[in-house]
Amino acid sequence: FQDMVEEARLSARALIDYGEHFFNPTVRLGVTGLSRAGKTVFITALIHGLTRGGRFPVFEAYASGRIARAHLAPQPDDAVPRFAYENHLRALVEERRWPNSTVDISELRLVIDYQRPNGADRTLTLDIVDYPGEWLLDLPLLQKSYEQWSAESLALSREAPRAHLATEWHAHLATLKPGAREDEQATLTAAKLFTDYLRACRDERFAMSLLPPGRFLMPGNLAGSPALTFAPLDVPAGGQAPEGSLWAMMVRRFEAYKDVVVRPFFRDHFARLDRQIVLADALAAFNSGPEALHDLEAALAGILDCFNIGRSTILSSLFRPRIDRILFAATKADHLHHSSHDRLEAVLRRAVSRAVARAEDTGAAIDVVALAAVRATREAQVAHGRDKLPSILGTPAAGESAGGEFFDGNTEVATFPGDLPLDPEPLFNGRDAFQGLSTHAAEKSDFRFLRFRPPKLEREGADEPTLPHIRLDRALQFLIGDKLA
Ligand code: GDP
Repeated sequence: FQDMVEEARLSARALIDYGEHFFNPTVRLGVTGLSRAGKTVFITALIHGLTRGGRFPVFEAYASGRIARAHLAPQPDDAVPRFAYENHLRALVEERRWPNSTVDISELRLVIDYQRPNGADRTLTLDIVDYPGEWLLDLPLLQKSYEQWSAESLALSREAPRAHLATEWHAHLATLKPGAREDEQATLTAAKLFTDYLRACRDERFAMSLLPPGRFLMPGNLAGSPALTFAPLDVPAGGQAPEGSLWAMMVRRFEAYKDVVVRPFFRDHFARLDRQIVLADALAAFNSGPEALHDLEAALAGILDCFNIGRSTILSSLFRPRIDRILFAATKADHLHHSSHDRLEAVLRRAVSRAVARAEDTGAAIDVVALAAVRATREAQVAHGRDKLPSILGTPAAGESAGGEFFDGNTEVATFPGDLPLDPEPLFNGRDAFQGLSTHAAEKSDFRFLRFRPPKLEREGADEPTLPHIRLDRALQFLIGDKLA
């Protein structure tokens, strides 16, 4: 019955969307990616570029002058927070610091007045929906029992390199008796230690991606609620929880998590997207080693699986606007010399290749790009001994350090980022082939993880300064170019 009500709600919602779309062509663009992938920076740069005259030579409608104007409008969904564009922009441009990252869903509406190639004036409404990619990884939970999920999470946490991050949580787990009376304090501690473990896995050095339940690290407005306070127990996969037990309490909360968190998200937000960009910090995974790359691969496959599921019901094919374009983007390409941008793209292409092959008959067009939404570096040839090396220049953020040197946030340094390999395959095939991002000269300092400050913008005459980027226009062309033709 619950499913029927849900389907009815979905089709009603879809009809409304359809009606709106008929009179006012609207594209709902989902922007997602795991935490720190670059969603906030991407959306801020995209809006700034479109509203303030960015340089987008590859975005055809824009470059040919057919876009008369793009402006922000009140966003349509009253229950969704607005993307804090103005704050983010102020941080980036005036304070030259990176804006606060995505922690919840948010939305913004951009209205684009343009001219069709035949001269007719039209308007396209672009609703940009920003949400944590972690939430998508929850979809498989809907088909799992608490016991199955527990068993899987435990098995995963006993593998390297996760095992030693889980020590404290495992120690606490060993003291818990699943059949004992339900116990709020024990549950709170278990949930906290389990969350700490998940967070440690996400740490830069490990950069693990596959960590459901997604809200544990990205709680949004549900932080601290019972539906988010549970953890795995060492219980048999086919077992049955005794009434009133700790185990039964965990089961109840796990089910609540599915009902109040996972289902509503997919129904109210995910199912309504038309286009999707999935951002990935492939460079960070690459730098952490093959486990992190495999992990990213699995996470991206999990994300892509979500895009297949929405197509399976008759209702969805009749009414629901369906995602028909998905772009995977490797972000922060400005950490590399331009000669490596195609190679970064190749790494990401390889990471999604298997998942894409599985998703081929869904009809969605899928592409891959390496980009920097905001380019924080410049390129130069820098003398190194007798050689001239292709380098990147950037201002490391205050407090960053490399090779024993601390930066004050105002000093530009040259780094030799090294080349990515031509063939990404060996990176995925075990430790021996993996060398990380080699530095050209035998640099002792490790500049790879340096966080650069956003660039200083030069004003040209009276014009607003624009934000430099790498291939943001290519992303735009793929995502909405056809809607402006
Ligand atoms: P979110 O969690 O997906 O919203 O990620 P953010 O957009 O907040 O980005 C996380 C961090 O990645 C930022 O604070 C920056 O340090 C870095 N970053 C994101 N985009 C870029 C980019 O285009 N260039 C550079 N150099 N750094 C970026």
